[in-house]
Amino acid sequence: MMAAYSASMNGAEVLLIEKNEKLGKKIYITGKGRCNLANFCTKEDFMKNVVSNPKFLYSSLNQLPPYDTVDLFNSMGLKTKVERGNRVFPESDHASDVTKALEKTLRQNGVKILLNTGVKKILDRNGAFSGVETERGDVIQGDACIVATGGLSYPSTGSTGDGYEFARRMGHTLTKMYPSLVGLKTKETFVKDMEGLSLRNIAVKFIIDGKEKFREQGELLFTHNGVSGPLILTASALFTGDIASGKKTKLIIDLKPALTEETLDARIVRDFTSMSNKAVKNILGGLVPSSMVAVVLRLSGIGGDKKANSVTANERKNLIKVIKSFTLEIKNTGDYSEAVVTKGGVSTKEINPRTLESLRCSGVYFAGEVIDVDAFTGGYNLQIAWSTGYTAGQIKHERNKKMKSISIAIDGPAGAGKSTIAKHIAKELGYIYIDTGAMYRSIAYYMVKNDVDITDEEKVCDACKNIELKTIYVEGLQHVLLNGEDVTGFIRTDEVGSAASKISAYSNVRKFLVSLQQKMAESENVVMDGRDIGSVVLPNASLKIYLTASVEERARRRFKEYTEQGQECDLEQIKKEIEERDHRDMTREISPLVCVPDAHVIDSSDLDIDGVCRAVFDLVEKLKK
Ligand SMILES: Cc1cc2nc3c(=O)[nH]c(=O)nc-3n(C[C@H](O)[C@H](O)[C@H](O)COP(=O)(O)OP(=O)(O)OC[C@H]3O[C@@H](n4cnc5c(N)ncnc54)[C@H](O)[C@@H]3O)c2cc1C
Repeated sequence: MMAAYSASMNGAEVLLIEKNEKLGKKIYITGKGRCNLANFCTKEDFMKNVVSNPKFLYSSLNQLPPYDTVDLFNSMGLKTKVERGNRVFPESDHASDVTKALEKTLRQNGVKILLNTGVKKILDRNGAFSGVETERGDVIQGDACIVATGGLSYPSTGSTGDGYEFARRMGHTLTKMYPSLVGLKTKETFVKDMEGLSLRNIAVKFIIDGKEKFREQGELLFTHNGVSGPLILTASALFTGDIASGKKTKLIIDLKPALTEETLDARIVRDFTSMSNKAVKNILGGLVPSSMVAVVLRLSGIGGDKKANSVTANERKNLIKVIKSFTLEIKNTGDYSEAVVTKGGVSTKEINPRTLESLRCSGVYFAGEVIDVDAFTGGYNLQIAWSTGYTAGQIKHERNKKMKSISIAIDGPAGAGKSTIAKHIAKELGYIYIDTGAMYRSIAYYMVKNDVDITDEEKVCDACKNIELKTIYVEGLQHVLLNGEDVTGFIRTDEVGSAASKISAYSNVRKFLVSLQQKMAESENVVMDGRDIGSVVLPNASLKIYLTASVEERARRRFKEYTEQGQECDLEQIKKEIEERDHRDMTREISPLVCVPDAHVIDSSDLDIDGVCRAVFDLVEKLKK
């Protein structure tokens, strides 16, 4: 809803697709029906409450910080109040008012809302978003899509993890997911006897695999199968992974943190002396909650009916130990149906933190719990949803920027002089020449260096997940950084060339690079050459050129080149090879060579390099007007 609001404020035509019969079903149950919608705190304090990947959220939080979020809701007509711990609630105490305020604003902004419609698939074409397919099989097309499908928690509210599947299909990595902000199940079944008991001002510590990991004072609740309450929820956010992976986890509760063992002993001695003839079970109620008395006595090895005056010093020692170190063994966390949030999700490494756009599929954005970010309780998780939703919705801003940069796509058959012309033009205009071939070669270099079997498409695509490719420009020349290392000098070998040719036929490799190339063209003025630049890589290029030349002329040029290099060759043979290559390029299954209808055809048969460049410059000038 926030993403739709933000996009609509930017003038986008927005369709909000929701699989439930109404919007914001989860919001209704947040904050025990009151919706703790934000925390009235600074960005710095907010960050301290984010458990996973706080840095990823910097940019989103700058775009919509907590204070501004509250202002924004106020401007939508929602009155709010701030309670203990800076928790923000609707003044009415009704979570439904949050949804109503959002929905009203969405309708005012002209957002179309499609209810009862589950999205089944996100459709992409060569690494770029093209539309969505609904459960009913309808295809809805669009320029961009924001995935805000939530996590896996409380699936009855509609958050059934669909976004993870969308992301996975687009080639995204999913980090391991766990229920978080959730109660913990104990090995001890006697907790059931204390079900519903809430302990205030107690101290807990967690010992994981023998090491103390957490020590905090606060509130704890016994449940039918374990423990819950604020302290436990916080601990679950930190240790859910450890617990789920089977690490030995002990919870030690100090029921009397304000008393040392000595002062506690003195207190017990005093009580036992003044009521020496009473049964211990009737005295202990003054020290621990009555529903705990029987359990505490049992664990101390003291019969409940025992008179106070017959309790031995050793039994008292045991009693003190149990009260100061009431120990439970954690066997598991609660499951998703009772978890407030999901920890883990779409890896933040594959989402641009500034825009929240996927680095795997351009035009797809992520917001909210579907991303691998989570926080403690206190309004922080909804704030993550608001800030990321708002940021993802700023698509138009991005697109405007895209409009400002100029991209020139040069396609054409082999030997027409594309790369020579592209480099010249880029140099003259001060644009960036994107050497797509170097990018394929860099990936191939990685595979060769790491002994990845390049004939195995799946292995190659898998290995791509470990690759971070960046291009930098030094004096206008492209340098490729492969996982931070400048590999420009190593990629021109024959071995890498032949590997590049093989892997360039793999559709996922192409997707990966096309998405990267598109991103480069979004922010910079670029010139790119190839076979499918105008049709696939930059279908919205500012200028498309189809550079061709007659077969005879191309054969003559190649003949000249070979003989100048001292190679013996036959003109007719070269001509035949060029014809065959043209046919192959035009009919190949993946990214065939096509002259798109909006391309300007330049025939270089009778033109030299300067002549072709002049023709291109004329077109660029017209474009600027
Ligand atoms: C009991 C409970 C109490 C909570 N209380 C608080 C609180 O007080 N404060 C706080 O900050 N956080 C709270 N949270 C956490 C908070 O609610 C979530 O972190 C937040 O709602 C996540 O927002 P989201 O938009 O990412 O996902 P969600 O709120 O889960 O919304 C996802 C939406 O996408 C829809 N959807 C999913 N898949 C599809 C599909 N394929 N097609 C179409 N629609 C789809 C779902 O139906 C749903 O409406 C609470 C959570 C729970 C479970």
